[in-house]
Amino acid sequence: MNSIQRADRDLMRGINRSIILNVIKAHGPISRADIAHLTGLSPATVTSITGLLIEEDLIFEKSTGDSSGGRPPILLALNPRGGFVIGIKLMESQAVAALTDLNATVIEKTNVELRNTELTSVIDELVLLVENLMKNNKIPKKRLFGVGIGLAGVIDSVNGILRKSPFFGWKDVPFRDLLDVRLKVPIFLDNDVNTLTLGEKWLDNGVHADNYVVITVGRGIGMGIIINGQIYRGKGGGAGEFGHLVVNQNGPVCDCGKRGCLESYLGDQALVMRAKHEVDPSIESIDELIQMAAGGNIAAGKLFEWAGDLLGQELANLINLLDPKLIIISGEGVRMGDPFFSSMRAAIQKNAVPELFENTEIRINTWGDDVWARGAASLVIGELFNSPIQKEER
Ligand SMILES: [Zn+2]
Repeated sequence: MNSIQRADRDLMRGINRSIILNVIKAHGPISRADIAHLTGLSPATVTSITGLLIEEDLIFEKSTGDSSGGRPPILLALNPRGGFVIGIKLMESQAVAALTDLNATVIEKTNVELRNTELTSVIDELVLLVENLMKNNKIPKKRLFGVGIGLAGVIDSVNGILRKSPFFGWKDVPFRDLLDVRLKVPIFLDNDVNTLTLGEKWLDNGVHADNYVVITVGRGIGMGIIINGQIYRGKGGGAGEFGHLVVNQNGPVCDCGKRGCLESYLGDQALVMRAKHEVDPSIESIDELIQMAAGGNIAAGKLFEWAGDLLGQELANLINLLDPKLIIISGEGVRMGDPFFSSMRAAIQKNAVPELFENTEIRINTWGDDVWARGAASLVIGELFNSPIQKEER
């Protein structure tokens, strides 16, 4: 066999492995015969690949206890504790990390306040965070499949380079290699909203749509785009700057330096500033404003209605542009609750092309503070289930 034939054979095996693993994840517990039937692979291929997956502890045999006569079929199921991953959301003043199993179920969550924003110091703290999670839970290195890191900024995820970070002021930092050298486990790096978007595929009740977007509302307004099953990054990793759509070019100055971006109206700080004028001058935080609206304060409710209407207008533009199957709203901002989301939905309906809007599902994620870290963990989990071809395209 020459080297091209060998490479072809390895590629085929890799593809078949990912097909089988995905079928077991989606349909397991499932018999080998049913796997062969569903995938169209030969029984011999299924037996050989599932044998390897059992050896790797990624799947296990489960007898059905079916006593309807004859030999009960042996079923195969995914072993979520066959491996572990760590997801980290890195923010300007702290890092939140979660150790999860292969279902992205959190085993332990922890966080660290960053001493400063110097690169070497941040790397040191991340290394310590990972080592502590492994030690506390007695995870041997060979069972840790990788560390996924999500952070704001423009990120070249293929090369693991942080091109630009708004919080840390770093530029062109080879972040993945810096951590890889220290931890010696696979490191995956991506924009935090992309990790959240990819995560939707791998978490429980994962999204099955091939065209969907995730919008995050909170301190900033972010967006992740899945087109034809793949994340859309643009030419240099910068796609999805939804928060910097210009709503009014004479509007307030935005963090990006331009005027009148959506974020300069809807970011947490912008809403607090507006609330000082329109609700109560003593308001200091978005949490206070949310509590006031929930407690029936009319002015606070009206402010969220206005904000929801503005977001809805831009989501209508987004639907007209991309015709997604699903829009997921996530992030801390989902706590803004009903006045916000009712008027957001009404504005979408009013402004989107009706034929496109009809078949677009809008989903509001329930908020948990481990959402970001689980998203980062799923960056690694996705690698396990992706075929070698999808990995190339990453
Ligand atoms: Zn902006």
